[in-house]
This record gives sequence, structure tokens and C-alpha cells, in this order.
Amino acid sequence: MFAKDAYILNVRALPTGESKEEYLLTKSLFDRFENDDITACDVKCEAKIDRTEREISINFTFNGTITVACDRCLEPIDIKISSDEYLVLKFGQAVEIEDENVVMLSEKETVFDLSQFFFECVLVGKPFRCVHGEADESKCDESMIALIECQNKQKEKDNEETDPRWAALKKLK
Ligand SMILES: [Zn+2]
Repeated sequence: MFAKDAYILNVRALPTGESKEEYLLTKSLFDRFENDDITACDVKCEAKIDRTEREISINFTFNGTITVACDRCLEPIDIKISSDEYLVLKFGQAVEIEDENVVMLSEKETVFDLSQFFFECVLVGKPFRCVHGEADESKCDESMIALIECQNKQKEKDNEETDPRWAALKKLK
């Protein structure tokens, strides 16, 4: 069960100066954003927080593993996540800021939900291509690949059979 407030930062209660927080990013985070690509997640996040009167700057370190489907054989593959990100929360009037890692907080806001930020950090940390054996010693499931190829061939064949252009061509023969 996902604790709704698991990633809520109580910005007003943070002490001035440096402090630390730890978060555990799990599958429930991805469920919340209806993401099915990541089937398991065990990523630890350490946050080094530095609060001054006007802003809170946070350096995050992400370390752990996510599980996705292999791009080649579709079987699960564990991907290591190891990345750093920063976030700056500024108190004051909303102004246009170019940096997407800088967020303005109005005087009324007492909490900041880090869920969306964490979600995006993990997705950004995921390599574009996830295939067994390319970053580790694991191996693709060759029987799955054979099955996928067989299905693709069948699909091609079905397309040919139902494509009226093929039927027209056949008549010409
Ligand atoms: Zn594979």
C-alpha cells in the first residue's frame, strides 16, 4: 500500500542549515503515475538539504535497481540506477524561471510533493536501450526471441493475406 505522504517534504518545518532525508522509491510510485514499463523498483534516494531563509536547495543521490522488459526478448531485466539530481525550492512571488529544477513556492505552501520529481528522475536515469548482456552478464531468453520472430512472421503473412493490393497483384499473375 502506497503511503500518500511518503514523498512529501514539509518545507516549513525544515530546520535552517543542513539536514538529511532518505527516501525509498518503490513500484508504488510508478503505479501512481500509471507507468507499466517499470515492473519493479528498489531505489534508495539520499537527499542533502540546505535551507536558508529564502530557499531550500537539495542534492539527491539515487542508487538502486529497476526492472523493465528487455527490448529484445521482453523478459524482465534489472537495470542499475545511479544518478544525481538537484532541486531548488524558492520562497516568494512566482516568476518565470528557465531552470525546471527550480520551483517557486508561495508563502501559503507548507509542503512540497517530491513524487513527480522522483518519478522523472528514475525515468531519466533509465538507459534508452535495455537489453540483456549489454550492461551485465545476463542473457536473453532465446526461446522468447524465436517466439517473437515467429509471431512477427505470422503477422506479416496475415497482412499480406488481408491486404487488397496483394490480392490484386495475385490476380495479375
Ligand atoms: Zn533479453
